[in-house]
Amino acid sequence: MRRKLVVANWKMHGNLVLNEQLFAAYIQKLSLLSHVDIAVCVPYPYLAQAQALLKNTNIAWGAQNLSKDAIGAFTGEVSAMMLKDFGASYVIIGHSERATAYCESDENIAVKFKQAKSYGLTPILCVGETLIEREAGVMQMVVGKQLDAVINAYGASIFADAVVSYEPIWAIGTGLAASGEQAQTMHEFIRSRIAALDKSAAASLKILYGGSVNPQNAVQLFAMQDIDGGLIGKCSLNAQEFEKICRAVA
Ligand code: PEP
Repeated sequence: MRRKLVVANWKMHGNLVLNEQLFAAYIQKLSLLSHVDIAVCVPYPYLAQAQALLKNTNIAWGAQNLSKDAIGAFTGEVSAMMLKDFGASYVIIGHSERATAYCESDENIAVKFKQAKSYGLTPILCVGETLIEREAGVMQMVVGKQLDAVINAYGASIFADAVVSYEPIWAIGTGLAASGEQAQTMHEFIRSRIAALDKSAAASLKILYGGSVNPQNAVQLFAMQDIDGGLIGKCSLNAQEFEKICRAVA
């Protein structure tokens, strides 16, 4: 039985003072929620703050990206080992905001996935289609190709105990979430693609939905069989809304 997981993606928001308040509000509101795993992915400079304030709580923390390389002359990059130094458990990989802005290829993203796994971090691999791709009916082909970049390089077994987040690009930050049925159809497709190659990896894989999740639509989304929780952007910056989303997990 997979435990549900709700992950906050703070993106490039916050500062030391605001984070302290938000971490305190998270702890106050979320500490009694034992039915769901909770994590927050913060900008790199605030990993130390997350570690100091969240250790010994039920809230794990992580980063929003990592280097595909382990160590070396890669100016501006941050390695998996460095994230581990600050107690990170999770790392978001291939978020569309990065893939678009920094032209990350599916192959690069696959190497980052492997890198995270090798160092004991749980990768949260973001996949999803654009609106044009959905309207053209090729969304499963697009998401299948994103998954195949990892499968072809490392085999389906690498998905064991990992996280995939289905994030339709048209739903991110737009206020227009996918319906429960749209998301479930894609989640089922993702799980069956992995299951065709490795049943046990597919059974342990958590598949989150991300894209304009709010306290109102979370209940319907999280009720779907293959939706194991959510990746939450905007609403995670408000502790009250984030709490309601965490409580919406059945
Ligand atoms: C995200 O960027 O991962 C995300 C899901 O954002 P939002 O909830 O704001 O759509």
